[in-house]
Amino acid sequence: MNNKRHAEVIGGGFSGLAAAGALAQRGWSVRLHERSLELRPSGAGIYIYENGLRVLEKLGAYDEAVKGAPFAHTREMRDEHNRVLSVHRWDPSKRVFSIVRQRVINAMADAARKNGVEIVLGSEAVAATPDGELTMASGSKLKADLIVAGDGVNSKIRDSLGLVAKRKGLPDGAIRVLIAKTPEEMASGDGGTTIENWSGSRRILYTPVSETEVYIALTMLHSDEIGKRTPIDKADWKRAFPHWAALIDRITDDARYDRFEYIRLKKWSSGRVAVLGDAAHALPPNIGQGAGCSMMNGLSLAYYLDREPDIATALDVWETNERPLTEHTQRISVFLGLPTTWPTPLRRAFLTLAGKSKWMIAQRTKTARHIPTGT
Ligand SMILES: Cc1cc2nc3c(=O)[nH]c(=O)nc-3n(C[C@H](O)[C@H](O)[C@H](O)COP(=O)(O)OP(=O)(O)OC[C@H]3O[C@@H](n4cnc5c(N)ncnc54)[C@H](O)[C@@H]3O)c2cc1C
Repeated sequence: MNNKRHAEVIGGGFSGLAAAGALAQRGWSVRLHERSLELRPSGAGIYIYENGLRVLEKLGAYDEAVKGAPFAHTREMRDEHNRVLSVHRWDPSKRVFSIVRQRVINAMADAARKNGVEIVLGSEAVAATPDGELTMASGSKLKADLIVAGDGVNSKIRDSLGLVAKRKGLPDGAIRVLIAKTPEEMASGDGGTTIENWSGSRRILYTPVSETEVYIALTMLHSDEIGKRTPIDKADWKRAFPHWAALIDRITDDARYDRFEYIRLKKWSSGRVAVLGDAAHALPPNIGQGAGCSMMNGLSLAYYLDREPDIATALDVWETNERPLTEHTQRISVFLGLPTTWPTPLRRAFLTLAGKSKWMIAQRTKTARHIPTGT
């Protein structure tokens, strides 16, 4: 007789893959359902800080995830005249990589499969019950000791359990793309400097992510109909950022716009169902920690379930221990997004101060400096 505990995990993103891999490492039988026909994350590039990197190490995905990715060391904030407002140098003892998302997801999926996770593509779940029954879009029902909902901001599993306390569309959003490096960029060798350039309420974030690619994020107000248009209106963006005209011309048409969201749940679980990642705690990307928190919460979920045999009790302990840091991360991310809607002089003063204030830097980097549970 097979005494292994069984988990059904929904979502092949950062949270689902982290939870699935960590559970399988602890002897669970794990099946992960991804509704798409391939594991293909949207969003082009990503920053993963020390906390997330430690989780990737534990999952056995680190080496493959960071292969070829630059070690980020400096972030410059510039104004609409390309003048430097502040320069932040990351503490070299705390790693930060900027990486192509697909590379991280591939590395996590490979590691999860090696640990025994069965990944089922083209498999959509629609609802779950607290006693561990999962309903698939096909109508079939699956029973599990544990269901993990890592199915993103529009989580059907979360909504089937009525767990949302607050869900809010934020005033801004982003278009993200990867572009090929020019021969000059490839030759320059400095892959570790990120440039965040503001013009009015728009922003261009320039981040090298591999030997051959740069990740570009354009952010704008959700009300900025021209700014959020895809394919992007190049002439309009060049008017806002004349000094970036050559870069704007290199942006390809396969861009997509996403509005930032904030989500808070009444509870991160219901009976045998745990909810994590953007489904539970979506946040704006101002400190690049959404996936970091998703991965930390995936690993720590498996850690607490390993120590407490009763599932509902383990999920309560997990939430009690992990939720405060995630909520700090949400608060600081929302706070740092506030100046987006402020007049330019006020925003400039805030950004300059935020880049220099030791207190602000400590708040902003608290999540990155945290040693994740289970690492
Ligand atoms: C502009 C922007 C920049 C960001 N930059 C960073 C950054 O630099 N660093 C960082 O750490 N975070 C960053 N984030 C946040 C990060 O992208 C998210 O927090 C992270 O992707 C959440 O992972 P997830 O697995 O919870 O959800 P998702 O990545 O949304 O994955 C959910 C998966 O579930 C699948 N799915 C959905 N519904 C179902 C269903 N019913 N059945 C089966 N499968 C389903 C989806 O297809 C998807 O594969 C950024 C976010 C934005 C918007």
